[in-house]
Amino acid sequence: MTEGTNDQYQLTVEPRSKHNISRRQISEAALKVLYRLNKAGYRACLVGGGVRDVLLGKRPKDFDVATSATPEQVDALFKNCRLIGRRFRLAHIRYGREVIEVATFRSHAPESPRTELNNEGRILRDNTFGSIEEDALRRDFTVNALYYDIKDFALLDYANGLQDLKNKTLRLIGDPVTRYKEDPVRMLRAIRFAAKLGFTIDKAAEQAIFKWGHLLKDIPSARLYDEVLKIFHSGHALHAYELLRHYQLFKYLFPHLDKYLKSEPAESILDFIEQSLVNTDIRIAQHKPVSPAFIFAALLWPLVHQKAIQLQAEKISTLPALQIAGSEIFSQQVKTIAVPKRFSQIAKNIWNMQPRFSNTRGKQPKRLVNHPNFRAGYDFFCIQSMVGLTTFQLCEWWTQFQIDNPPQVPVHRKPGHRPRRHRQARNKSPE
Ligand code: ATP
Ligand code: MG
Repeated sequence: MTEGTNDQYQLTVEPRSKHNISRRQISEAALKVLYRLNKAGYRACLVGGGVRDVLLGKRPKDFDVATSATPEQVDALFKNCRLIGRRFRLAHIRYGREVIEVATFRSHAPESPRTELNNEGRILRDNTFGSIEEDALRRDFTVNALYYDIKDFALLDYANGLQDLKNKTLRLIGDPVTRYKEDPVRMLRAIRFAAKLGFTIDKAAEQAIFKWGHLLKDIPSARLYDEVLKIFHSGHALHAYELLRHYQLFKYLFPHLDKYLKSEPAESILDFIEQSLVNTDIRIAQHKPVSPAFIFAALLWPLVHQKAIQLQAEKISTLPALQIAGSEIFSQQVKTIAVPKRFSQIAKNIWNMQPRFSNTRGKQPKRLVNHPNFRAGYDFFCIQSMVGLTTFQLCEWWTQFQIDNPPQVPVHRKPGHRPRRHRQARNKSPE
């Protein structure tokens, strides 16, 4: 930890009677994990977003557990456990669709042989186990270092997190520059939490983002993909997008789009991106499924559209122009954000489908409705119509058409399942 941090913070314990966390707000799976660890003689606490969000009256996205048990000891206690991670060794305990992440208390010990730093001070690997207090102080924000102890249901505040929670402030534990150098992704986490919680990033942490944003250039594209997805699927994508641009971090994630946006494009293009993000936020609020493909299709569309028009001017016809443009834009983009192929392919399908929405005659519409990505393509088309990039009447035509011609759901048979023969058919068959 940063020099002086230990003196800077003092533990505050709020007993059960003094705080409003009740076990009813914690998932059964998380409680099971906590109780079993505790019963086996280990210290076990809920930590991170699970505690923070409950205190804020929000439903946590997931529950994280911190314990004195080593990953191997956790593994020995749970049949449904899997050990994962390279940077940090973690245990994942699965109950149906819910996964509880269990991490052993770790210390922040740059001098330890089990901690690997690069030349800029970035932590590459960090598996030094430690005390609960050390574990608290190596976490990112003060509001993320609150622990709910299953032993006596007390709330443990090691870094003045409760005060910052009240003031809606995101404050890094320790010196912001050191903490960003250790892990530049913390800058993106600051944006995500600011957007999601409506918190203000404290001045020192904010200034350091402007100065040290370029450290994100060193982060592997696979990790940036994970983080970008968390940002755009946080339910607050529009706000986060605005913050990313304000804090000048957007250029490290979407360098080509950032340049394009700075070239003062048509208002309708900017509206299209914003409307797509609003659409995603609404779907999440309504608990509807969202796909990474849609986010990338929306964000990269201005570039693809521009490139395709350019190619068409060189006498390449519509569909090949879109295909070439789509491939080119994605191959640029994956240099910073590693979008998995299965999603980039769907994004390309969405783009390639767009001209087909102008064709409302003959058999084409029925074929399009049965395209596996039709629904996403249709949503995409209608967002374009909302911002004036296509006509609203066409979107309405397709809305009605799919009501009249619902897509045919392909029949999936279980392997080995033989369809029952119809009695009448059997009677008719020649003996
Ligand atoms: P949410 O789950 O809602 O996204 P969270 O705060 O639980 O928010 P997680 O990514 O689940 O975030 O991480 C759990 C906890 O682990 C965090 O609250 C924080 O204490 C710690 N943590 C996660 N990532 C980092 C990091 N890069 N640096 C320091 N601590 C981290
Ligand atoms: Mg979490």
